[in-house]
Amino acid sequence: MTHEVTFIPGDGSGPEVAEATRRALEATGVGLRWDVQQAGLGEYERTGDPFPRATLESIRRTRVALKGPTTTPVGSGFRSVNVELRRNLDLYTCLRPCKAYDGVRTRFPGLDLVIVRENTEDLYVGIEYEEGSEAAARTIELIEDLGGVVRADSAISIKPISAFASDRIVESAFDYAARNGRRKVTAVHKANIMKFTDGLFLAVAREVAARHPEIEFNELIVDNLANQLMQWPGDFDVLVLPNLYGDIISDLAAGMIGGLGFAGGANIGTDVAVFEATHGSAPQFAGRNMLNPTALMLSGVYMLRYLGERDAGDRLEHAIAAVISRGERVTFDLKEDRNDPTAVGTSEFADAVIEELNA
Ligand code: NAD
Repeated sequence: MTHEVTFIPGDGSGPEVAEATRRALEATGVGLRWDVQQAGLGEYERTGDPFPRATLESIRRTRVALKGPTTTPVGSGFRSVNVELRRNLDLYTCLRPCKAYDGVRTRFPGLDLVIVRENTEDLYVGIEYEEGSEAAARTIELIEDLGGVVRADSAISIKPISAFASDRIVESAFDYAARNGRRKVTAVHKANIMKFTDGLFLAVAREVAARHPEIEFNELIVDNLANQLMQWPGDFDVLVLPNLYGDIISDLAAGMIGGLGFAGGANIGTDVAVFEATHGSAPQFAGRNMLNPTALMLSGVYMLRYLGERDAGDRLEHAIAAVISRGERVTFDLKEDRNDPTAVGTSEFADAVIEELNA
């Protein structure tokens, strides 16, 4: 069976890691037909629009995309491609498997956890009122009418957490656990302080857990999680979190597995998914064939599994892990000394992975 996939090379160093990943995916032997579409800075400079309609329409049609990183310039009214993608396709699950591979410098060898972050609400909905604005003043007045106290010179952010979004994200975590042979889901919250917002997330998480008795469930307050992750990282398996905690804990976990170069991920909605690395376009490396393509290759592994090509996904992951653990044909970030002249480039790393796959 041939799978059609929208392929977005991205910009900066994106096209280099994306091409390395495309080659590695093809070397698995899985039938893949690429619909190449553009997004990012290059597209913005060419047409004034970083996120063309044709790209969105392609993903709507193929339902699966592999995306290289794209730059979001600060200021200039530039729309973030990633935000647009999440919003337009309602990609409500941000999936970040975090595994420490042998050969990577980490204080947490053997770490293997999966973070499932809610992507659509919480403090990220963008309902924010500037200090001194009429909206802030009216909100403060309303809060006072309702019996609350807020300083008059406050800026205000609103944190909506719905039962609907909590249900589907926790369901998504259990679904991932069931499909991937995971044993436990931990719901992370701060319901001791935010009794109604995080309280709702937690109450819904318990209800969803009751629908999945075959998978162990527990719950943890987010600050306690930060502490326990450092002390007993092996205790965790799948974590499900509201947007803000998920954002912070995903980057913490990326650090624990050796850094951004190893953090793959996906944004998943109902019947549509975009697979991409956690790292950005690292523009200072653009055109230098230097970056480690592992993160996007791992996103490709998750994509294969999502497409039902589990065996090919496992083979590609083993090939990547083997190249990393040997430590020979690897990029500069995997060498003891970052100036080690034996470090290979992005595309030579892909060659090593492909040889390993064919061995
Ligand atoms: P970045 O992730 O691009 O790079 C930060 C640093 O991390 C790099 O300088 C490099 O030293 C290291 N690094 C990142 N990826 C690496 C890899 N694969 N191998 C080795 N080292 C690696 O972060 P940034 O510089 O803050 O962002 C650059 C641009 O990317 C910004 O415009 C930002 O908005 C965008 N961005 C895009 C995405 C995305 O498309 N999903 C995600 C994050 C940031």
